[in-house]
Amino acid sequence: MTRIAVGGFLHETNTFAPTKATFADFQHGGGWPAMTQGADVLKVMRRINVGLAGFVEAAETTGWELVPIIACGASPSAHVTRDAFERIVKVMVDGIKAAGPLDAVYLDLHGAMVTEHLDDGEGEILARVRRVIGPHVPLVTSLDLHANVTPEMVAHADALIAYRTYPHVDMADTGRACARHLALLLKTKQCLAKAFRQLPFLIPISWQCTNDQPTKSIYEKLAALESEAVPTLSFAPGFPAADFRDCGPSVFAYGKTQGDADRAAEAIVKLIESHEDDFDGKIFLPDEGVRYAMELAKCASKPIIIADTQDNPGAGGDSDTTGMLRALVRNKASAATGVIYDPVSATAAHAAGVGATVALSLGGKSGIPGDEPYQETFVVEKLSDGRFIAPGPYYGGREMEMGPSACLRIGEVRVVVSSHKAQLADQAMYRYVGIEPTEQQILVNKSSVHFRADFEPIAAKLLICAAPGAMPADTASLPWTRLRPGIRIKPNGPVFIPPSR
Ligand SMILES: [Zn+2]
Repeated sequence: MTRIAVGGFLHETNTFAPTKATFADFQHGGGWPAMTQGADVLKVMRRINVGLAGFVEAAETTGWELVPIIACGASPSAHVTRDAFERIVKVMVDGIKAAGPLDAVYLDLHGAMVTEHLDDGEGEILARVRRVIGPHVPLVTSLDLHANVTPEMVAHADALIAYRTYPHVDMADTGRACARHLALLLKTKQCLAKAFRQLPFLIPISWQCTNDQPTKSIYEKLAALESEAVPTLSFAPGFPAADFRDCGPSVFAYGKTQGDADRAAEAIVKLIESHEDDFDGKIFLPDEGVRYAMELAKCASKPIIIADTQDNPGAGGDSDTTGMLRALVRNKASAATGVIYDPVSATAAHAAGVGATVALSLGGKSGIPGDEPYQETFVVEKLSDGRFIAPGPYYGGREMEMGPSACLRIGEVRVVVSSHKAQLADQAMYRYVGIEPTEQQILVNKSSVHFRADFEPIAAKLLICAAPGAMPADTASLPWTRLRPGIRIKPNGPVFIPPSR
């Protein structure tokens, strides 16, 4: 029987963000399933939208024996601590060592992990696993669309396959694609040629959305270029908030011959470069966006939805900035917004009880320049223990664990406040504290793009606003110091020049 060791370790690192990811963050998961080890991994990784869950399902259908090692993820944030990385990778490597004879290894990784001591988290994980399994056992890895892929990652893995959707509704599908590719490698015992290209400009995440052009058509072309000669081809637009050499978009192809792989990669690179002008759009200031949304709401039958993009906890924000909330209240909007992560305020709301009025210093605790706690009086409208299922296409049925939570009201603005961080990417994240999102005039979601999977069907119009936060909508506004010389820090420049020492 074919024996395959499987594991997952996911983190997207924004090196400019305020808070690091600790071992405890990986134990909790923060939007990912809580950390599991051994046989428990296979209990959790089922019927949810995660790469490992898709792989497990496909492997069991194929009749492979799986050796589950460890699966964990944490909310995007600043660096993964050395302690968390070393403890988790030790479990992974020791588990693979102790697994006995293996025919292959599959890992579900993000591809944009930076740790306190390593720029290239995944390159190091793959190198250590490769050292244990030797050069001939296939090692296949699924990656996030936001992976900042490095030459080391490409060198140590037999195949890397990235998601093709943002919102990432195909995480489990990418796990299944890895299983198909692995089946091909095991059957043909063939070693495929690799092509890897890094693109010369950063792409802001708002313009990476695959529901819109130009990204949509790039992925259509990419799928059309796969063939028997090129079984898998990926484009990772990258995560443009990790200050190191290999930050940025990349293309990677696996082909029967080097020529096959090179031709496919080159075709996609040319196509992406031809669209450099098109990775662009309108970003509103908070008051400007709120007033425009109020105007649109007058004759809309569905909510106007604003992405509070710069405090997206899916990109390293702490999901606690107050700029958009202030703009809603200041302009007397009728709206709902979430999720503000603030355990202290959530606890105070629970102590006060439903119907009570509480004076709070809400959010603003992550110390983002230009932001501070919002000192106001709120009515506690509803309380929750924070446990519910998120059934929309992004979370895909995941059990959420937001901790003690509340709906607080100020004027006609309702605010979801939680004790754990997770990106507002599911309508259930309003409903669990009694807010019906479809009945709101305006919704302000702390998310950049993922919310669109579940919210586009209920939206009259989507806007993007830039209030102070950890993930600038304009990648050129970040204080870069360590990119590779010559890369353009947004489409059409300016060019990154290393600071002189
Ligand atoms: Zn992503």
